[in-house]
Amino acid sequence: MPVAATIGGLLRASGLPRLEADLLLAEVLGCTRIQLITGADRTVAQADVDRYRALCERRVAGEPIAWLLGRREFYGLDFAVTADVLIPRPETELLVDLALEWLDAAEESSLLDLGAGSGAIAVAVAVEQTRRGRRTRVTSVDVSPAALDVARANGHRHGADIRFLRSDWFDALPGERFDVIVANPPYVRAGDPHLDEGDVRFEPRPALVSGADGLDAIRHLVATATAHLVDAGRIAIEHGYDQGEDVAALFTRHGFVDVRRHDDLAGIWRVTSARRGAVSRSAAVSGAANA
Ligand code: GLN
Repeated sequence: MPVAATIGGLLRASGLPRLEADLLLAEVLGCTRIQLITGADRTVAQADVDRYRALCERRVAGEPIAWLLGRREFYGLDFAVTADVLIPRPETELLVDLALEWLDAAEESSLLDLGAGSGAIAVAVAVEQTRRGRRTRVTSVDVSPAALDVARANGHRHGADIRFLRSDWFDALPGERFDVIVANPPYVRAGDPHLDEGDVRFEPRPALVSGADGLDAIRHLVATATAHLVDAGRIAIEHGYDQGEDVAALFTRHGFVDVRRHDDLAGIWRVTSARRGAVSRSAAVSGAANA
């Protein structure tokens, strides 16, 4: 007769790093990691053993933990994630911090999030602004209807009042201007070996890759953003660890001022921000014609 599996036994036999085994078993049992430790001798029902083993197998085959759990934490909030969206990353919290810093100056304001994905950025800003008693109209766009479904569900989950729109960058927003624009666009180079590693292998390519030098989307955004910012409005874009100089130069070339470097917690230049410069009358007219 087979010996009944205990919590401790299952964790030891998983073949996964301990943290990952803990997360998967806690998910199956609907308990906390602490309860796994205090209940190490408990017997686990066969149905739960089977579910847990199935998850472990998928993890060993490389599937992201966030998919197996169906969620990832970002800015202290839980976000549903599916194969249709990028898994939120800690360094992207920088964009939320910047948006909150800039929006803090006004009682009422507007924010545009380009490339909603899971909705993590827009939802985190909306929830935090509400908590602070500030009114911010938040718009979040994505070209992928499937991503927007995930983003909407996450907005709903956190009670965030966000206008989610299907739009290829600014296309569905003619004539609209915002106080703050944030974007985590695709910025990985086509053929980058990093695309064959870890979670990235499973994530939607259009959310990651942007041309031979990774800068196609960012070039487009910088070239078109001025028409969608209020006077002195600010924009922040996340980019690759080695793209900071290029992105800063793009902003400068397109007439932005106050171009700034922002590092993540590891000291890596991850985000570049800029302010819309004063637009002269003639430049404004020709800018509109080119928009
Ligand atoms: N930082 C991500 C990665 O390198 C890329 C995210 C993106 O392209 N927006 O895995």
